Amino acid sequence: MEKIRQAFLEGMHRLGLDPSLVTWTMQDDILILEGQVERWQQVVDVGHMAAKIEGVHNLVNHMTSLDQPAKPVRDLSAYYDMDVADHADVVIIGAGVTGCGIARQLSKYKLDILVVEKEEDISCGTTKCNNGMVHSGYDSKPTSLKAKMNVRGNAMYTQWAEDLHFRFNRTGSFVLAFNEEEHKTLEGLLENGKTNGVPGIALITGDEAREIEANISPEAISALWTPSAGYVEPYEVCLALMENAIDNGARLRLNCEIVDIETTEQKVTTLITTQGKITCDYLIDAAGLYADEVAAMMDDEFFTIHPRRGTLVIYDKENAGKIHTYSGQAPANYTKGGGPQETPEGTLLFGPSAKEVPEKDNLAVDQDDLDFVVNKGMFLIKNVERSSLITFFGGNRAATYMEDFIIQHSKKLANVIYASGIQSPGLASSPAIAERVEGLFLELCPDVEKDENYNPVRQERKPVRFCSMEERDALIKENPLYGRIICRCETVTEGEIVDAIHGKIPATNVDAVKRRTRAGMGRCQGGFCQAKVLEILARELGVDETEITLKGRGSNILKERTR
Ligand SMILES: Cc1cc2nc3c(=O)[nH]c(=O)nc-3n(C[C@H](O)[C@H](O)[C@H](O)COP(=O)(O)OP(=O)(O)OC[C@H]3O[C@@H](n4cnc5c(N)ncnc54)[C@H](O)[C@@H]3O)c2cc1C
Repeated sequence: MEKIRQAFLEGMHRLGLDPSLVTWTMQDDILILEGQVERWQQVVDVGHMAAKIEGVHNLVNHMTSLDQPAKPVRDLSAYYDMDVADHADVVIIGAGVTGCGIARQLSKYKLDILVVEKEEDISCGTTKCNNGMVHSGYDSKPTSLKAKMNVRGNAMYTQWAEDLHFRFNRTGSFVLAFNEEEHKTLEGLLENGKTNGVPGIALITGDEAREIEANISPEAISALWTPSAGYVEPYEVCLALMENAIDNGARLRLNCEIVDIETTEQKVTTLITTQGKITCDYLIDAAGLYADEVAAMMDDEFFTIHPRRGTLVIYDKENAGKIHTYSGQAPANYTKGGGPQETPEGTLLFGPSAKEVPEKDNLAVDQDDLDFVVNKGMFLIKNVERSSLITFFGGNRAATYMEDFIIQHSKKLANVIYASGIQSPGLASSPAIAERVEGLFLELCPDVEKDENYNPVRQERKPVRFCSMEERDALIKENPLYGRIICRCETVTEGEIVDAIHGKIPATNVDAVKRRTRAGMGRCQGGFCQAKVLEILARELGVDETEITLKGRGSNILKERTR
């Protein structure tokens, strides 16, 4: 204890902060920080400093800052009086790539699995706003769970893509060096990557890199090459996972927020939700940015999520083919560095940046972040016009202060598993995370029977834009709506939009249609097609157009009828 006290005091002095501003206590093996400082970045700095102290294995940071916006207070009392609405053997909180991957993995057993999601659609948390990169795993600390999960998850993606029919381009990735210091960083990453077991990792010259990727900056002197890296469209992966889980019997409740959790005799029994009480035998916390708040509901708080914002920039498809592989720069603290890449759809994407922010739900993009991402991308590759930028967006990573994934049994509650703190490379790691959670579940429930009807293969219809003329003719004969183009930029037909609205996981708002069909993702960003998509949604759902939202509750697009 004395050693921790001393290290904490020294750390506070290093940060230039008055130690009396922060109190720390040790409960079991958890270091808990309380106090108030001026700026949010200081809250995060103190958390990171304390997490590095020898002997600290778990850290809860309750500190606040003066520049932090006040959290709205909600009255949740009505939910406690609601009746029991459902029971499941296993409840998974969160329908992101982690939760949906776990649901699919466990759907191979004779279990009633229920995924609960607070939003109106799946893939609405961090899973909708990331690079879609299946990282190779060169950068995580070899002792970390992130390293293990990343390398294993990357290898598993080939089978996932084959079974689930989502697009996956294994094109490799570069990290570029522009001077001797950066080259040395790459040498360190090479050793790290080798220790992590990254296949084919190599340090090559700038010229060798340009032979593979002609538009890499002529100033790059060397590159770390990892051929196993690849790219997916992340919401496509999430949708495929959940659809396949549903095919295998799993259930999904959307618009269902867990607001509290009841426990009896060291077990979770009942979830208080916005749709009534749900009882369960096992609970899996895959709640992304809110996983710590879910843990606190169970009186099992042992980590804190601090959101780390990344900004991403998208360029017009006229740039397709200018670069195929991610070409980043030597990484900085807590980020892989960011850089240009091409998505499987042929969209050029720059980013992400990394900035600590106090609000989990605020995805606003700051001008300085935007400038940083654009300027860095323009420096790393050539032949891209700034004016071809079509949009930008932000996403928050669910970082813990230990900066590693938490995939483990609860130490307090006998029927709870955590799949939490899944920051980057969470998408790349998701197959391995699902596999690890399956292992943890089998330890709790060793007698569970396999379901002999389990089918890992998902059936899906080829998008019209990839169909030959003959295939399009056949589709139009089946349904003339496949001949009516609604989104001209991305060649999306009315037939596909109607299919999405009535699909296995129905798309009930404009963004949900976009994630399934790409309507609105192109150059005009919905300028031409959004009104038509809205009209189709209203018609198919049998509601007034004013009821159609962009992304769920409170995001109505039209205010009132004018004529
Ligand atoms: C800018 C950026 C770039 C990234 N790039 C990459 C990359 O290239 N490669 C990579 O591997 N990783 C990347 N990541 C990380 C990756 O996106 C995440 O690790 C991954 O999406 C996490 O998925 P998840 O399912 O754990 O969380 P989420 O997708 O956030 O899902 C959690 C879900 O839980 C729901 N939820 C929360 N609380 C409750 C509640 N109380 N009741 C009900 N539901 C609840 C949320 O609504 C959400 O849908 C990036 C992240 C960012 C921000």
